[in-house]
Amino acid sequence: KDNLLSVSNLKVYYFTSGGIVKAVDDVSFSLKRGEILGLAGESGSGKSTLGYALMRLVPPPGKIVKGSIKFMGEELTSMSEEEFRKRIRWKGISMIFQGAMNSLNPVMKIGDQIAEVFKLHLGLSKEEGVKRARELLKTVGLDPEKVNAYPHELSGGMKQRVVIAMALALNPPLVIADEPTTALDVVVQAQILNLLKTLQREKNMSMIIISHDLSLLAEISDYLAIMYAGKIVEYGSSDTIYKSPSHPYTIGLLDSIPSLSSEKTELKGIPGEPPDLINPPPGCRFHPRCPFAMDICRKEEPPMTKLENGHIVFCWLAVKR
Ligand code: ATP
Ligand code: SF4
Ligand code: MG
Repeated sequence: KDNLLSVSNLKVYYFTSGGIVKAVDDVSFSLKRGEILGLAGESGSGKSTLGYALMRLVPPPGKIVKGSIKFMGEELTSMSEEEFRKRIRWKGISMIFQGAMNSLNPVMKIGDQIAEVFKLHLGLSKEEGVKRARELLKTVGLDPEKVNAYPHELSGGMKQRVVIAMALALNPPLVIADEPTTALDVVVQAQILNLLKTLQREKNMSMIIISHDLSLLAEISDYLAIMYAGKIVEYGSSDTIYKSPSHPYTIGLLDSIPSLSSEKTELKGIPGEPPDLINPPPGCRFHPRCPFAMDICRKEEPPMTKLENGHIVFCWLAVKR
């Protein structure tokens, strides 16, 4: 199978008055058609920024400063904005933004909001758009009559289904879902994840699902990428990462117990805070929190080590010397 998406050496920095925030710093990974990649990491590790970069919607003062994003054989970083808007954004790659269900327009009916997407991208009339919206609502498990509802008349789970419907409207081969279940209760979380998985299978879509909840991601993803302080520190099949994690940070994440009600990840296994991304620690960025840190970890960045079955880790412990 060919890669649908290949990201190489991607760097996305925010140029703030306080300094350069290296939010995504030399990230590489690829994704094949029909695969689900879970992207896990603590708050501030650069997960959303990576998603924005794939949509070329990094908010100022952020910028893609280096690297390549190849999608269906085309380089996206150098494509003109007009091309990108016409062919890629929403049609090729769409994104369910973090917290999007709370930014639906409160004074506009659901059907009309979905119809806007069809009008903007396919030039459909409002009538045709609302007709398509009804079908879409069915696809995401909602009553088509909800086209006439306003956002405040829907539950959180229903609103998230609407947001998913909008991301799927143009049948993109790749959907990025940024914290799609955060702020929903556990039962609804499971329903939304099942919905995403079902839709992904039916349409043979690829998905990148972003979450701070690694156990949740492991259930739904084929592959997992673990992000720490702007870098992917470990990558592999879900099974491998879950059963035999190699990076001390991943091991800590798996030991940690995220509390069900709060959005914050409480790391039982890893004391300390993620670093400042303006002046990240030298060497391995995880060294100040790592129980296994050695001298070399404080000085030199760990190189990539390939373990079996495409399992990749960036840690000095994995380097055979
Ligand atoms: P969360 O789990 O909280 O959503 P995240 O992994 O999605 O976190 P990002 O939102 O991508 O992390 O942020 C990565 C880094 O970039 C953080 O240090 C953050 O403070 C910084 N950052 C994000 N947006 C901006 C911005 N608009 N301006 C400056 N810095 C930013
Ligand atoms: Fe810990 Fe060193 Fe591995 Fe970093 S490279 S995770 S500090 S052992
Ligand atoms: Mg985020």
